[in-house]
Amino acid sequence: MPDVKVKTPNLDEIFEKWKTSANRKHHKALEAQFGTKGSVFSLDIISAAEYVKNPVKGAAVYFSVKQTAKPGKGKDEIIVTGPRVSKETYYTFKGKNVDKDNWKGAERVPTLESIAAVQCKTCKGKGYTEDNCRSCKGKGKVEDELTVLEGEDMAKVKGKTFSYPCAICYGSGKDRIPCKECGGHQNLYKYEILPVPFKSAVIGVPILHSSVQTKYEKEIGKDLQDLIESVEGIRFNNFKALNEKAEGSLGYWNKDIKKTISGAGSDFKKYEKDKNSKITSQIYLFPMILLECMTKKNKKFEVYSIGSETNFMIYSNFA
Ligand SMILES: [Zn+2]
Ligand SMILES: [Zn+2]
Repeated sequence: MPDVKVKTPNLDEIFEKWKTSANRKHHKALEAQFGTKGSVFSLDIISAAEYVKNPVKGAAVYFSVKQTAKPGKGKDEIIVTGPRVSKETYYTFKGKNVDKDNWKGAERVPTLESIAAVQCKTCKGKGYTEDNCRSCKGKGKVEDELTVLEGEDMAKVKGKTFSYPCAICYGSGKDRIPCKECGGHQNLYKYEILPVPFKSAVIGVPILHSSVQTKYEKEIGKDLQDLIESVEGIRFNNFKALNEKAEGSLGYWNKDIKKTISGAGSDFKKYEKDKNSKITSQIYLFPMILLECMTKKNKKFEVYSIGSETNFMIYSNFA
């Protein structure tokens, strides 16, 4: 493969493109952040020289993978009391898979087959806890004092009592209080929220590694998947070639770029080995530039460019 060198867009070109797009999408914010009270607002007053504080050169590696979607993983276990079981809606699939395109429900659902009783730990399955009867104070009986008069002079005899079983605790001396945990239902009930068993489908997945940390990595990857022909990068058939030519192709180099390429290489190997994946594109190397900017009102924002001087996309968190 001959050496290909890409020309990186320069700072002014990137800034201009951002300005045009920001003016279209966030005109008000632009005026608020860069305008001067009392004077007519014009895009010309927003210059890269003044507002770009620090440009960072980087690179991104992209390739595309077709994957057989693996069944979803993970389960959530929910535990409720008996009366709450019927408040939920359950799904049953009876071992049949579901076509994801036709499925209108959630990706994970409560499943009928997972409902199971769990003995209440608090009352050990009894449904109640016991305490001394409040009426007889645990004695199980009621003791009344008798009035007894003895002999001819009818002297009062003290301490004669008469006892009979307590009607509140039926003589047991114990009061049963419904268990606070299970509400007296002896068990708690668990059910599982499981992934819907979708039929496996083949999906295209964009893989992007960038040396400039950006929260747009997912978005850029998706855009590249659709627009790969309209963003210019350098193509390689394997990572050996990429490793050899990357520095020369970019015309600049740093530790982060080196790390990114090596990380992308390991990722690529992982997909090569994975039976559920097939790499469906060449490997692309894109110049990436990060402009760390600050508005006139001292609000920080960033502009990213990916691609060459002739074809590049920009991303920004300005507004
Ligand atoms: Zn009692
Ligand atoms: Zn209980």
